[in-house]
Amino acid sequence: MMGKPVKKVVIAGGGTAGWCAAAALGRFLGPLVDVTLVESEEIGIVGVGESTIPTVRTFHNFLGIDEREFLRATNATYKLAIVFENWARDGDRYIHSFGEMGVSNWLAPFHHVWLEARSRGLAGDFGDYGFEYQAAEQGKFQGGEGSRLSYAYHLDAVLYGRFLRTLSEKAGVKRIEGRIATVDQDAQSGFVTALNLDSGQRIEGDLFIDCTGFRALLTEGALKTGWEDWSHWLPTDRAVVTQTESQGPLMPYTRAIAHGEGWRWRIPLQTRTGNGYVYSSQYLSDDDARERFVAAIDSPPLFEPRLIRYQTGTRRLTWNKNVVALGLSSGFIEPLESTSIHLFQIGVTRLAQLFPFDGIDPVLIDRYNAMARHELERVRDFVILHYKATERDDTAFWRDRQAMSVPDTLAARIDLFRETAHAYQESGDLFRVDSWTQVLMGQRIMPKSWHRIAATMRDAQLAQALDALKGNIARTVAALPTQAQFIESYLPAPQPAL
Ligand SMILES: Cc1cc2nc3c(=O)[nH]c(=O)nc-3n(C[C@H](O)[C@H](O)[C@H](O)COP(=O)(O)OP(=O)(O)OC[C@H]3O[C@@H](n4cnc5c(N)ncnc54)[C@H](O)[C@@H]3O)c2cc1C
Repeated sequence: MMGKPVKKVVIAGGGTAGWCAAAALGRFLGPLVDVTLVESEEIGIVGVGESTIPTVRTFHNFLGIDEREFLRATNATYKLAIVFENWARDGDRYIHSFGEMGVSNWLAPFHHVWLEARSRGLAGDFGDYGFEYQAAEQGKFQGGEGSRLSYAYHLDAVLYGRFLRTLSEKAGVKRIEGRIATVDQDAQSGFVTALNLDSGQRIEGDLFIDCTGFRALLTEGALKTGWEDWSHWLPTDRAVVTQTESQGPLMPYTRAIAHGEGWRWRIPLQTRTGNGYVYSSQYLSDDDARERFVAAIDSPPLFEPRLIRYQTGTRRLTWNKNVVALGLSSGFIEPLESTSIHLFQIGVTRLAQLFPFDGIDPVLIDRYNAMARHELERVRDFVILHYKATERDDTAFWRDRQAMSVPDTLAARIDLFRETAHAYQESGDLFRVDSWTQVLMGQRIMPKSWHRIAATMRDAQLAQALDALKGNIARTVAALPTQAQFIESYLPAPQPAL
């Protein structure tokens, strides 16, 4: 056991990561620890990060968040899926929905049955057998108590930060405004001992959480933790972003539309749409990106597009000495599968579970880092899959993606699926089998063989089973309200006072 008991936690930075960490530690550990957050309004936050995955709801449940309050406060909408356009081939379109596909059985997931039926000409599209998939496709949604849909949210990052700040302060978190000028460290252990602000104020702590975004003031600036670059696999390194007025029906999905040197997103909120153009500066200039972006969005930008630079990679350690890095300070996997918010929400949840009440012990740090690393590498693999499994050869960017070597862990997964249709979710993996199969097949990796569980079924029997499933989903989805109708009924406009 090293060091002294941990009583005082200091969070450096008040972006989404900082306020998520504050809200969680305030709520989970309450009176056991004292939590202070330092942020600088003058520096501001990155202000993007508006698409989430369903684990956000688990995190909100832990925090006791009322969904209606959250939706009102953050301009949020519902997300059932990501629609991928032009990825494996220009003109392709597929959906990665959050739900289960078909009905699985203990012996083999549904896609094995579907592949058997497809080989005999009896199957519809894979997406016909997904409830969330079909609801997304048709713009339908039903939430609230008893909803059967697996869903996440699109939200306004700035408003989400404010919402979490209110929760945190209610849970007893102290906020200090000011710019961190220097970081003090213990001469022997290298542990961070205090943050010194421009104002002269000194903030001491036992455990520090670095949420200072790309600046990584503590983990890199002070501790020199080191960086592992993954940009040879995921080379997009810039995004231009803006917002537009809402256009057309409010669809419950993020659009990820590939272009010659990356992709662009479209994220619908209740009253506006978020847009971003992601690209690699090795292949496209900033001026060209901006011009193409403005030409591609469906209405005039509400503000001059803003350029954000980033690099995909990770700090060598997430937890180093007495500093835990969360959010952009810990690394970043480009935003294609909207995993960043999840990664720091699970990161702080894990920290609360492994909290070093009696002192910071290297064995605890090792365990935390191993868990974080495992999950991050699998997320990285999942995102790389979208680039590697492409037939696009229209630009140097896509030709290089096809030709690149990928991590062994991903190569093995692709081979296994291509040869046998087996896909898996190991302990600590974020993405479920249904996510892998939707993306693998959406990217045109079709298995050569599959489990023969359905081989004994006669054609009529197999066709009937699939038709029944498809019909059931179609009828259920047809009866759902549109997302706009649901939100209107779920969040009725306040009545004017008489
Ligand atoms: C282009 C792009 C698109 C993205 N899209 C998504 C998405 O769809 N979904 C998703 O989950 N994630 C997405 N992300 C990631 C997401 O934006 C971030 O994970 C999230 O915003 C958290 O950022 P952060 O809090 O770590 O950093 P920031 O928002 O940068 O916050 C840093 C904080 O540190 C403070 N700070 C810095 N230096 C000092 C100092 N010297 N003194 C005091 N305070 C300081 C700042 O004031 C600020 O409060 C995206 C990221 C990018 C770049």
